[in-house]
Amino acid sequence: MGTRFSEAYSEVLDGLASKKLSKDDKWQAIIVRARKFAAIDGFNVGEASVVNELRAKLSVAAVKGTNEAVSLLEAAGEDLSGKGAGVMIDADLARRLGAFKTLRHTYLLKRFGAHKVWCVSIPPAFTDWPHEALKGGLAGATTKLADTTERFSLEQRKNLSDASAEGMKWVQRAMTVCSNVKKDTNFAKVARWFADASSTDADVVAAAATLNAGLKKIAAKLMSGHLIYTDSVSERGGTDNDGVEAFVWGDPLDVVYIEEEFFGARNTLTGLTNWARIVVHELTHRELDTEDHAYEHQGINPRKLTASKAIENADSWAWFCADCGGALTDALIKNAMAR
Ligand SMILES: [Zn+2]
Repeated sequence: MGTRFSEAYSEVLDGLASKKLSKDDKWQAIIVRARKFAAIDGFNVGEASVVNELRAKLSVAAVKGTNEAVSLLEAAGEDLSGKGAGVMIDADLARRLGAFKTLRHTYLLKRFGAHKVWCVSIPPAFTDWPHEALKGGLAGATTKLADTTERFSLEQRKNLSDASAEGMKWVQRAMTVCSNVKKDTNFAKVARWFADASSTDADVVAAAATLNAGLKKIAAKLMSGHLIYTDSVSERGGTDNDGVEAFVWGDPLDVVYIEEEFFGARNTLTGLTNWARIVVHELTHRELDTEDHAYEHQGINPRKLTASKAIENADSWAWFCADCGGALTDALIKNAMAR
């Protein structure tokens, strides 16, 4: 049974609130900002640079010969002097360490456009969230604290950022299509993904209004600065997410879990187009409680799926947005309709 990022995040808040953290001036400067950064409702974009400052401080110390484990123990207010080699990291210290370790692997993804999203990229060697994984023997904890490997490489983080920007572009274009649904080409697009043989013109206009309202929520989420991409760290040891691209888990925070197959090649779409499709698909689950009646490869032609199911179906929304965004070739559309 895994635990969600939102639960791990409340441990980060508790860790940062601890009075036992370092009293050193330079650490205090970071700690004061980290407390503002990790707000109750998620990361605060206004204080985003504190994670870069934390990484810079750790890397400067590392160049001088102090590895990240030693620096993070110092930040947590623990020098371990006189405690011997058999020292155990208890839950309280693990929580303080886990807070810094989580922030050390947190990145604001923002390259182009208005979208602002976060990536929490805990090292692959962790099989639970930092506040849990760092409990126990000092040697194991030290190895984990010193581990600077990212779950999401720089290139993957760029791809996630681009996927969000692309998804944002599609959603905005789809909103334009829905707002002007009386125009023939726009009407045809909405009808293509959401009308069946018994749909009237008024039904298509009503579907466009539903889509427009939903897409507005998704666009707002992409721009909110609260959206977090991470993976299901506490489930890494298992097989539950094998073959999974991404999912949402009802977190109180706005979290989308990005799994191994996200960057895979098993989908009809590939590369940026597929990544953007996944982002839009997952956000419709998160914001609109859409269902997975059918994925594109299973057939999402509404004449077969039915119009009433299509408007509830995550992949129908995502493919419609891709269509409006100009990301689909005629051959891809034809293929999707023929399934
Ligand atoms: Zn889904």
